[in-house]
Amino acid sequence: MVIQGKAVSKGISIGKVFQYVPFKPIVTEHMIQKAEVEESICSYEAVRDEARREFCAIIEKMANEEDDKKKIFSAHIEILDDDEINETIYAHIRDDLYSAEYAIHSAYETFIGILSRGKDPLIRERALDLQDIKMRLLRLWFKAPAVNLSNLEEPVVVVANDLFPSDTATMRREHVLAILTEIGGETSHTAILAKSFGIPAILGLTDVTQLLKPGETVIVDAVEGSVISDPTEEDLIKFKKRMEEEKLRKMETEKFLAMEPYTSDGVRIDIALNIGSAEAHELSFAEVTDGVGLFRTEFLYMRRCTMPSEDEQYEAYKKVLETYGDKPVIIRTLDIGGDKQLECMELPKEENPFLGLRALRLCFDMMPVFKTQLRALYRASVHGTLWIMFPMVGSIGDIRFAKQIVEEVKHELQIEGHEYSETVKVGIMIEIPSIAIMADIAASEVDFASIGTNDLCQYLTAVDRLNPKVAKYYQSYHPAMFRLIGNVVNAFQSQKKPVGICGELGGESLATAVLIGLGLRKLSMNSSSIASVKKTVSEINIRKAERMAQTVLGLSTAAQVESFLKSEMNEK
Ligand code: PEP
Ligand code: MG
Repeated sequence: MVIQGKAVSKGISIGKVFQYVPFKPIVTEHMIQKAEVEESICSYEAVRDEARREFCAIIEKMANEEDDKKKIFSAHIEILDDDEINETIYAHIRDDLYSAEYAIHSAYETFIGILSRGKDPLIRERALDLQDIKMRLLRLWFKAPAVNLSNLEEPVVVVANDLFPSDTATMRREHVLAILTEIGGETSHTAILAKSFGIPAILGLTDVTQLLKPGETVIVDAVEGSVISDPTEEDLIKFKKRMEEEKLRKMETEKFLAMEPYTSDGVRIDIALNIGSAEAHELSFAEVTDGVGLFRTEFLYMRRCTMPSEDEQYEAYKKVLETYGDKPVIIRTLDIGGDKQLECMELPKEENPFLGLRALRLCFDMMPVFKTQLRALYRASVHGTLWIMFPMVGSIGDIRFAKQIVEEVKHELQIEGHEYSETVKVGIMIEIPSIAIMADIAASEVDFASIGTNDLCQYLTAVDRLNPKVAKYYQSYHPAMFRLIGNVVNAFQSQKKPVGICGELGGESLATAVLIGLGLRKLSMNSSSIASVKKTVSEINIRKAERMAQTVLGLSTAAQVESFLKSEMNEK
């Protein structure tokens, strides 16, 4: 059987299926008889003991880690043994005749509700700890296995309905041969992370979780976007050969990794890196890139029970800034919402999260969180060349308000005697059409811009970037995209303000010539694209790139643009 989807991170893999089904308890209002009370209490206590044993085992495993992390789990044990919570559970069982699982659920929900309404963010964060403990107790109650991608024991093909960016960010990468999901599109964050880790991924595979069995061997062809289940011996031989060829081709392209990116007629193009952490594997590309074009800081906030403190953020930013020295590091302020959720903070449920309280808007709504990040950024600014960037800017008003907060933070730091660099640049992402259209005015208000084509395409074409049902309408090669990009580049360049691109399109070698032809001289991308884009840069000259851009601006459809670019690239 062949299942077809969208290849979002290219490559070929062969391996065993691992079905990733995170536990979601269904607790109904279930009552017991009076005679069952004692037995229910005993069962609850047994589950609680089991949870305590699990926490102790985690703490033991963390013997070599910082005390801070261990403290989280000791605090969980304290909550588990909290008298008030336990008394509430006992009362629900004894007096209300709730079943044990319903009593656990109800008692924890009551306390979660109280804490989440707290004014102090620290108190609100405790609600998440309770949520975590409730899920653990219910998982043990239902005897469901603990599934987690961070402790995969052997190499597998991960199959899931959907993955949260936090799942992808924390999974044990060396054991993930490929990712297959039912949900998600080309620029979903799962796709972006898979690409940056070099893991083949196909998303938008209808019913893949039903069609594939755990443990069965599959061939993942993330070039064509197909998954072959139950492969024949012939299939296996054919794909093993293709894997070898792919490896060789990659090795050939990798030769361009360390090359200085000049076009064939000698124009320098800056190639910057998109990162999601300050981890060594990401920073190992510092030598071969001209800076960080996008640090997605939201990953610092994910998969944890508390918000990262100012000091913790400062250390992460400092590390990146020091690594890059004189080269600019663009750090984007928290871009949460849409498909990126936080465990440490419940975000409001919305009908249209991509059109809702997201990114900068959310930061405006959570001033302490925003200011903490800005403080950490400015404090770290003395360690390198910091450019701060705001995501999801929709209006000049957004820019002015964000800059006002920046001034307040600088003033506070000054009063407290903290040092910061006076040369920090403040810029914006161009990812909402309204600001792209206003680029001439925006350019006079900021120091730089970077075009976020992932969201720009979503908002320009009115297509949910995650919904596989409308994937064919999500057209990054839509001529309207190039027209708008051209306008933005002209607006910024005429005011001598730096402008780059950091959406996925910036890392696609098919688009490299037209982007350069439109005037872009800085392209930022995932590490896996650097070599192939540098190779393409070395093969084009500016005059030809400009001619190609002019042609593209006159074409009518995305299909025409793609086929024109493919034929031009092949001709070369
Ligand atoms: C973009 O929208 O193009 C972008 C780079 O931001 P993100 O993918 O993180 O939304
Ligand atoms: Mg974006």
